[in-house]
Amino acid sequence: MRIAIDGPAGAGKSTVAKKLAGLLGYDYIDTGAMYRAVALAALSAGIPGDDEEALTRLAESLTIEQVWRQDGTTLKVFLNGRDVTREIRTPEVSRFVSVIAQVPGVRQQLTAKQRAMAASGRVVMEGRDIGTVVLPDAEKKFFLTASVEERARRRFLEITGQGYDATLEEQIREIAARDARDESRAVAPLMPAPDAVVIDTTGKSPDQVVAEMAALVRG
Ligand code: C5P
Repeated sequence: MRIAIDGPAGAGKSTVAKKLAGLLGYDYIDTGAMYRAVALAALSAGIPGDDEEALTRLAESLTIEQVWRQDGTTLKVFLNGRDVTREIRTPEVSRFVSVIAQVPGVRQQLTAKQRAMAASGRVVMEGRDIGTVVLPDAEKKFFLTASVEERARRRFLEITGQGYDATLEEQIREIAARDARDESRAVAPLMPAPDAVVIDTTGKSPDQVVAEMAALVRG
């Protein structure tokens, strides 16, 4: 079974997607990490966000691998063989990623890579457009949401927990700006697939959400 999990930043997708994949013994694929890897490579190469041709060529040329340990927690991301797990989470990459994610050629390149990665058919794939674009025929689709404040609070705890400086107000502004860009872009705007199960995770623990999802998957 291929399981698609979409939703805005901070809705709790990564935590529950990893737990669900661990529970089912499936592969877990974080497509946001792939967009982040392209953003990191573009920043390193000095390619500006509006050079669509160069960004598309870059996305095509990169080798992005994800190594998932079935213990339900550890995902390592490699860019051209180099471990970039930590580097792709810096505030600089977080700001640039939704800019490069608007480039149609970048999306086409990553969509093709993601479809190939789902070929095993035992996969939990997490992102923004999995149920609508990447795997429109996925057997199960979820769309997770939560209030802006709750999502900003989760991101704030995540970022400060990794040792980076942040304020909650800044996170609320960044999440709102990122939502606006993700929802209004011309290609693959963020929205639930018509056949997705929408789950509001506000005030719910990850385990509660995973239990809800597992019950529907096993249905
Ligand atoms: O999931 P994460 O927050 O790491 O994703 C980073 C960014 O990558 C998102 O804000 C979005 O702009 C982009 N993205 C996307 N399509 C996906 C996954 C991520 O556009 N399938």
